[in-house]
Amino acid sequence: SQAREGYIQKTKTVCTYCGVGCSFDIWTKGRHILKVEPQYGAANGISTCVKGKFGWDYVNSEDRLTSPLIREGNHFREVGWDEALDYVARRMTDIRAQYGANALSFIASSKCTNEEAFLVQKMARQVIGTNNVDNCSRYCQSPATVGLVRTVGYGGDSGTIKDLEQADLIIGIGTNTAESHPVLATRLKRAQKLGRQKIIMVDLREHEMARRADLFLQPKPASDFIWLSAVSRYILDNGLAAEEFLAEHTIGLDEYRASLEGYTLEYAAEATGWSVETLRDLAEMIAAHERVCIMWAMGVTQQCGGSETSTAISNLLLVTGNYARPGTGAYPLRGHNNVQGTSDMGAMPDQVSGYQKVADPEVRARFEAEWGTPISPERGLDNSQMVDAAIDGRLKAMWLTGEEMSLTDADVNHLIKGYEALELFVVQDLYFTNTARYADVILPATPSLEKEGTFTSTERRIQRLYAAMDPLPGTMPDWQIYQEVARRMGFEWNYSYPGDIMDEVARLSPMFAGVSYSRLQGYDTLCWPVAADGTDTPLLYTEGFNFADGKARLYPAEYVGRSDAPAAEYDLHLNSGRMLEHFHEGNMTFRVPGITAKTPDAFVEISPELAAERGVDTGDWVRVVSKNGALRLRALVTERVSGGELYIPMNSRDLEGSVNLLTGQNRDTVTNTPAYKDTAVRLEVLDSR
Ligand code: SF4
Repeated sequence: SQAREGYIQKTKTVCTYCGVGCSFDIWTKGRHILKVEPQYGAANGISTCVKGKFGWDYVNSEDRLTSPLIREGNHFREVGWDEALDYVARRMTDIRAQYGANALSFIASSKCTNEEAFLVQKMARQVIGTNNVDNCSRYCQSPATVGLVRTVGYGGDSGTIKDLEQADLIIGIGTNTAESHPVLATRLKRAQKLGRQKIIMVDLREHEMARRADLFLQPKPASDFIWLSAVSRYILDNGLAAEEFLAEHTIGLDEYRASLEGYTLEYAAEATGWSVETLRDLAEMIAAHERVCIMWAMGVTQQCGGSETSTAISNLLLVTGNYARPGTGAYPLRGHNNVQGTSDMGAMPDQVSGYQKVADPEVRARFEAEWGTPISPERGLDNSQMVDAAIDGRLKAMWLTGEEMSLTDADVNHLIKGYEALELFVVQDLYFTNTARYADVILPATPSLEKEGTFTSTERRIQRLYAAMDPLPGTMPDWQIYQEVARRMGFEWNYSYPGDIMDEVARLSPMFAGVSYSRLQGYDTLCWPVAADGTDTPLLYTEGFNFADGKARLYPAEYVGRSDAPAAEYDLHLNSGRMLEHFHEGNMTFRVPGITAKTPDAFVEISPELAAERGVDTGDWVRVVSKNGALRLRALVTERVSGGELYIPMNSRDLEGSVNLLTGQNRDTVTNTPAYKDTAVRLEVLDSR
């Protein structure tokens, strides 16, 4: 529905603040947001959290950009849209002519819609001719996708939130669920309270869900792979495995068993700091429950061994037969509202929409027939590689949509070097962000309330959002910006609305064959894969695993240790993550006065024992120093952390408060996801109070 001045409008939308995918009606009068009214959303029922309920004022922030900007020396000049779009098209054409297509790159936004992500990768592949395209899942859940694709075939949650609710036992590893996925956590807390479910939380930090858990285990950093492997081995060795399931539905048991040699409970006890009895009880508890789900997040994936540990999680679920039944499965919890969808749509360097590999000639032929241009079979650069390539001169241009990389990428000093080396840096966003400071062109985009499209939540649920108000004058929906540039570069893009784009996705991608806007009216949803007749798949693998023979693979994974363990001068371990009130870097939520008043700034959590040893009180200024940078923050002494662990929220207002001034260049060995959770630091107590 389009907003009309003077009338109250009710418009169905989907929350932009996390992967749970809560949907609700938003009441508006013109540009005024009156209230959020949950109807009955597929993911959330009638619940929302503080961000979904109150976090919308950012759309009317005075900071919104309302005119494109082009850099002239140290200044930006306001220009009209035609001039900006012509400029981007001309500069990209020139750079491609001079250096070749692979000198250009694109980063799609996980806050944007599926249709927009699809167009970003189409721009890269059809218009420019490169596979240099990626998205922010590179910074979070790419390792989980690897673990699942290796073992069960699909890189997504294997069931829905309903399955999590139905499980007898939930294991959460490295997930601060109550703050990062609040409505999902509420549903689990209720199931636990009703006595239907037990919860085990494994985390370095004693957050809210850890306190509520039936069993909370604090491991030593980077030891998850070891305990998961030891528990799997114990279950196999002691006749507790799901033998029938393994025989009928999996292959590779012998090789997998061999890979577990050495993973004894004693070894795991030493690695985690838990007792052998605890590990034995844990293994027996997992084996004794009928329906087990494991959910995990950045505590697992943002490590050098993130992909290997994710694989170990899926192996354990296979060993215990916890796939393909209601109340079972693997749940990597997606952080952004559309991080699942942005990957689904092919904004990745080696896959087009629907996880189809560019290396596959049959896939390329289908896209080439539709698009009329050759598709390169070579893998492109991922986000991390793009920055490296810019620094060493191979990459000349980047078009970045809706990501505040200069706060969220690891080792931001390295990143900024990359930005400064580019000949063309296009930033498309709502505001003049920290990242935009380094841009050559800034294009003012529109937020979700001003456009149509779909998002895909953590449970693979595709949901429509409708425009609650017109785009702010001077701004343009992202999909239209891409279309305008593609046309200027000689391509006939004629999408009249985002539904046309989804029709193209469905034509080209078997996984989305039956997805159409007519099947997604209002609160109707579809969980992929969706067959041509519109049948969707809330629970995966009931007809077999996603391999030609239908069998899952037990995958012998390898332990990858820490890269930056505390030692000598840098004697403490730094962890980071989200807080409830803010989303990601905070560009949206810091522009919501009610939320900012409650949590105005970042801080560092320090354990009572460390605070006593170093003479720190809550409110004191301290400096946290790593090999990569330093950060001045106020201390918060809390039992949420223990010993030599420090914790800094990733949500900061500006670069000066960003935890990523401290993080380094270490990356997951398979996906290049930065090892944000693996940083050694020292703590300096400052005089000023
Ligand atoms: Fe939005 Fe997530 Fe909160 Fe739901 S739980 S309202 S999707 S932030």
